[in-house]
Amino acid sequence: MAEVRLEKVYKRYGAMAVVHGIDLVMAHGEFVVLVGPSGCGKSTTLRMIAGLEEISGGTITIGERVVNELAPRERNISMVFQNYALYPHMSVRENLGFGLKIAKLEAGEIRRRVNEASDVLGLSALMDRMPGELSGGQRQRVAMGRAIVRNPDVFLFDEPLSNLDAKLRVQMRTEIKKLHKRVRTTVVYVTHDQVEAMTLADRIVIMRDGYVVQVGTPLDVFENPADTFVGSFIGSPPMNMIEGVVHATGTGAAQVELAEGLVVPAPARTAGRLADGQQVILGIRADDLTPVGHGTSDVGAAGFHLDRVVSISEPLGTETILFTGIGGKEVVAKMHNPRPVGIDERLEFVLAVDRLHVFDAATGVNVLGRAGTTPAPAIAN
Ligand code: ADP
Ligand code: MG
Repeated sequence: MAEVRLEKVYKRYGAMAVVHGIDLVMAHGEFVVLVGPSGCGKSTTLRMIAGLEEISGGTITIGERVVNELAPRERNISMVFQNYALYPHMSVRENLGFGLKIAKLEAGEIRRRVNEASDVLGLSALMDRMPGELSGGQRQRVAMGRAIVRNPDVFLFDEPLSNLDAKLRVQMRTEIKKLHKRVRTTVVYVTHDQVEAMTLADRIVIMRDGYVVQVGTPLDVFENPADTFVGSFIGSPPMNMIEGVVHATGTGAAQVELAEGLVVPAPARTAGRLADGQQVILGIRADDLTPVGHGTSDVGAAGFHLDRVVSISEPLGTETILFTGIGGKEVVAKMHNPRPVGIDERLEFVLAVDRLHVFDAATGVNVLGRAGTTPAPAIAN
């Protein structure tokens, strides 16, 4: 069983800390994606698990073993990088088997494992080609094959699809997911792409500035973002963020007053969590602001109606992105089952009140609480 456990793991370069005491447990067989903007410490964290980077503090455990002092080759992990790093003068077959040959495995065993990996990855017809004769996607598949033949306890991926064009990236994403379904090895996968993270992960770990901000299933982090950072980072187009002030007088549900005097009801689940006069940020996803008759969500009684002029419309086929304004801010809405929208057309929109997110304006934290596993610094938006 290879669970990967990080306890209070730190990384410092001189006086500068880049990973601030991360606690994480990746379960055996789980596909965990570390996601966050460039420079937030994803690769450093992955490289510490791999043993390519020393840790400055804490404990890393793989399976039953503390690996802090173990060299990479003693950790029984395989790593796949962005640049596939194939040996250019070796055929696909030789590339796949080389690591095993170095490890002095018996020739029959090498052949068996190489054939198995090439079957899994659909490389059988390419075994005698040289890397120079392969497409980018095929090379990436060979790089994955090289990781598989070693039969590791854990796969570590660092942005393996970043060098591929958009279409191929989507294809390879699906292949990686199928591969994991088949081999069920623990995977720790790093990407800056939130769509890649959402589509691949059993659980997503969202990082910012060397801290873990939130850990959860893709739907969990989408539906319950811990703070404004996660709200803006996960989901496309990014969540609209509008400042407002709470009116929580009497016994009725609280309301949020936005700029220009617009008063919107607060979602029912925030009852008791909002103080009168509290400065908040209202988070509205484009999907939750739709022209009447063109939404997919059943908003029922909790719909808040508002007439708005559409400044720009962007048809995407199955939906159209609409730009309009709320509370003095430009916001993005979505029209499902679209029809053409005229220049500066006025539409009646409905806001799905119970799907709104409310964040404290001073800290950026969701008023329903923070779901992260590592305390992160307060974030002012
Ligand atoms: P990510 O993979 O999320 O883009 P990294 O883990 O590569 O981020 O880097 C995290 C931070 O650590 C960055 O600010 C980066 O500049 C810094 N860093 C990475 N490697 C070194 C190094 N060898 N020396 C000093 N700083 C480094
Ligand atoms: Mg990186």
